[in-house]
Amino acid sequence: MKIKFRALLTMCGDPVENGELIIDGGNIVEISTTQSGNDDVDLSDCLLMPGFVNAHCHLSLTALEKKLSPSDSFADWIRALIPLNSALDNESRIRGIRAGAEVMKRSGVTALGDYVAEPELLPVIGELGFRSVLFLETIGFQSQKALALCKNLEEVLQRECVSPLYQLGLAPHAPYSVSPDLFRRLAQLAEQYHCPLSCHVAEIKEESRFLVIGDNSLEELLKERSAWDPEWQPPYKTPMQYLSSLEILDRLIAVHCNFVSDDLDIMEEKKVSTVFCPKSTAWFGRTQFMPVRALLDRGMNVALGTDSLASNDSLNFLDELRTADKLLPDVSRQEILTMATSGGAEALGLQCGTLASGQKADLIGFRVSPSYSGLWWDVPFEPHRCEVDFYSVDGEPDALFPLSRPKA
Ligand SMILES: [Zn+2]
Repeated sequence: MKIKFRALLTMCGDPVENGELIIDGGNIVEISTTQSGNDDVDLSDCLLMPGFVNAHCHLSLTALEKKLSPSDSFADWIRALIPLNSALDNESRIRGIRAGAEVMKRSGVTALGDYVAEPELLPVIGELGFRSVLFLETIGFQSQKALALCKNLEEVLQRECVSPLYQLGLAPHAPYSVSPDLFRRLAQLAEQYHCPLSCHVAEIKEESRFLVIGDNSLEELLKERSAWDPEWQPPYKTPMQYLSSLEILDRLIAVHCNFVSDDLDIMEEKKVSTVFCPKSTAWFGRTQFMPVRALLDRGMNVALGTDSLASNDSLNFLDELRTADKLLPDVSRQEILTMATSGGAEALGLQCGTLASGQKADLIGFRVSPSYSGLWWDVPFEPHRCEVDFYSVDGEPDALFPLSRPKA
């Protein structure tokens, strides 16, 4: 298939103008700087770029849209979330998943890293059409439960037949909700099954306190849930030092990282990938959040994620770009787009996020006016854009988008 374009952001080189993209078998064969004229898809009024990678989401919470509000206490937010989540029936949950997926797709997300707490939802989420890593989300603060939890996970890892579009990962929920023994066992499982590992790390101040001197709000929450472990002793470490001591940092995708300014050396040494969630950060009204500039200056990989609708008011990824642009005045738009594409692909270990020969043909397009003379990097940030105009995963244009239909 040949696609004629006005401009193309490869995300691994300079923009290419007035050229042609040649795709075969779902892969990019060539990006030509000339146009042959016998194209299959005419996008000569479009900017093309790699599809966005939403590196952190919980699609199964989409049905909680607008049911929660920010709270001063993180423990109270969790207290509000748990009964609402438990009350969701399967039908509403699946309807929410599909609605959330459509919003993401319309806003240009072609690849997804999703936390899945219920293994029976794996086929539902895995068959939404994204290139995905589905992380089996695991909670268990009591050490004696670690072995049984890991046995169950191993059964899922062995049983799930994995489609070409999705693979499995493991997600210990957070340092305050997972026992040291469970962390170690999950790291071993990840190694054994070649799975990526993801974890919420240093999202809240209380977590750092919990690991150094103990934190009453998190301890009370665990006790209320009958999940407290009386053997627990704070390790007197920062979240990253703690995870490093459990040998879980080496392959970690660390989500949020709002309180890591003392941990940048260890994160750099262990090559931790991070996921910044702009709108979730804004939703909680956080004034201290991931030091993205400092991470990028160290050459570290940063991705973008939406998190769930329990802490965000929409899964529109173009809104995430604009919010990142506001929250990170010292990060350029080119860098934000890199986080949104190749940064996410690198974190999740996916062969997408850049447009180059041999890469997957996961791409999106934005219609631009013939007189457009601005920077191509600015196009996705334009305030009027709610949707992309062209969308393709694996070189398969999507019928939701009229421009994506090949010529008859
Ligand atoms: Zn999350």
